[in-house]
Amino acid sequence: MLDDKDRIFTNLYGWEPHNLAYAQKRGDWDNTAALIKKGKEWIIDEMKKSGLRGRGGAGFPTGLKWSFMPDPEKTGKPHYLVINADESEPGTCKDRDILRNDPHKLIEGALIAGFAMGAHAAYIYIRGEFYNEGSAVIEAIDEAYDKGLLGKNAAGSGWDFDVILHRGAGAYICGEETALLNSLEGRKGQPRNKPPFPAMAGLYSCPTTVNNVETIAVVPTILRRGGDWFASFGKDEKNTGTKLFCISGHVEQPCNVEEEMGIPLKELIDKHAGGVRGGWDNLLAVIPGGSSTRLLPKDICDNILMDFDSLREVQSGLGTAGVIVMDKSTDVINAICRLSQFYMHESCGQCTPCREGTGWLWRVMQRMVRGNATVDEIDMLLEVTREIEGHTICALGDAAAWPVQGLINHFRPEMEKRIMEYRKAAA
Ligand code: SF4
Repeated sequence: MLDDKDRIFTNLYGWEPHNLAYAQKRGDWDNTAALIKKGKEWIIDEMKKSGLRGRGGAGFPTGLKWSFMPDPEKTGKPHYLVINADESEPGTCKDRDILRNDPHKLIEGALIAGFAMGAHAAYIYIRGEFYNEGSAVIEAIDEAYDKGLLGKNAAGSGWDFDVILHRGAGAYICGEETALLNSLEGRKGQPRNKPPFPAMAGLYSCPTTVNNVETIAVVPTILRRGGDWFASFGKDEKNTGTKLFCISGHVEQPCNVEEEMGIPLKELIDKHAGGVRGGWDNLLAVIPGGSSTRLLPKDICDNILMDFDSLREVQSGLGTAGVIVMDKSTDVINAICRLSQFYMHESCGQCTPCREGTGWLWRVMQRMVRGNATVDEIDMLLEVTREIEGHTICALGDAAAWPVQGLINHFRPEMEKRIMEYRKAAA
């Protein structure tokens, strides 16, 4: 279990106020200028050394992503940092606690990350429903301007830097980085085709990096304590550091907690969430990384480690680390059907496989819940998920396909049983 001294988010639960004075007591904004004066290369090297992978779901190495930003002298264009605070993945609520309880970590991280990529401005795109969280961030931004930590010569670093908060209107798809950029520009929040990637043509067609809230908020601590310190946690050099996990569903005490990457799932649930309701043997399945990741049945949950690669090896993913626990009272077919409805509702409609396929999945899944289907249709359902997966502009198509695939992979006998029971009742 992670020691308290190694936790980055020491005010995750809001036990102390989120204002600047308390943030400084916790170590934020401690000689930020000295970190910046070490230079862009040093910052990017430390981030690479830390092994930090993006905390928004895709898990792309952060230092490498920053290094894709071109030289501002050569582009002659403004560069932008955009922070994705549109946290909407069902089962995920980690960024929300950073935004409301530790906003100064994010703003200090924005200044340092912005400097490293040659940006003089950062936009924080926040989910519209996070009204109070947005207000906490605005308070923190105002305090930072008042104390000279933002604006001209931010924090005495010699670098001019502005932070602007932008409230979204509550569409899940705006969490996709290019849809987010469109929305920020005042357009319809629909994903863009890639390439060009945002590092080449992002916000207002200028070089842009989009990073998740948690990714940016851990930057100051990593630089203060060193990339090697961060990399000393975790399962291996590709799965390093500490990570916020959100544990919800059928556990005794749902919670957010910072833990070491690669912690066993069972330990995470037992130590931090009071265990599965009714005991570990009452566990049916776990969705390990937010609603889009494929669920895992109990026998895999018994030994699985919570990191990017361990979960990928069992055809699931760490995603946003939103752990949704389902005990044996769950109608697992209905639970996945509800997710199908969610993804159908959130499809932006640009690509045919997603626009038509997500609705089709939901309609068939509704029949699977009742058992009003044939066994052959289970194969057809699987086939349609494969036609959607990888054939769309953005990952929402995959996100709609994976939960259904997970259900069929692990609970096919349950689906067949439901169909037989329906037939028997109807005979
Ligand atoms: Fe829109 Fe779905 Fe296509 Fe993404 S995959 S661009 S959400 S239609």
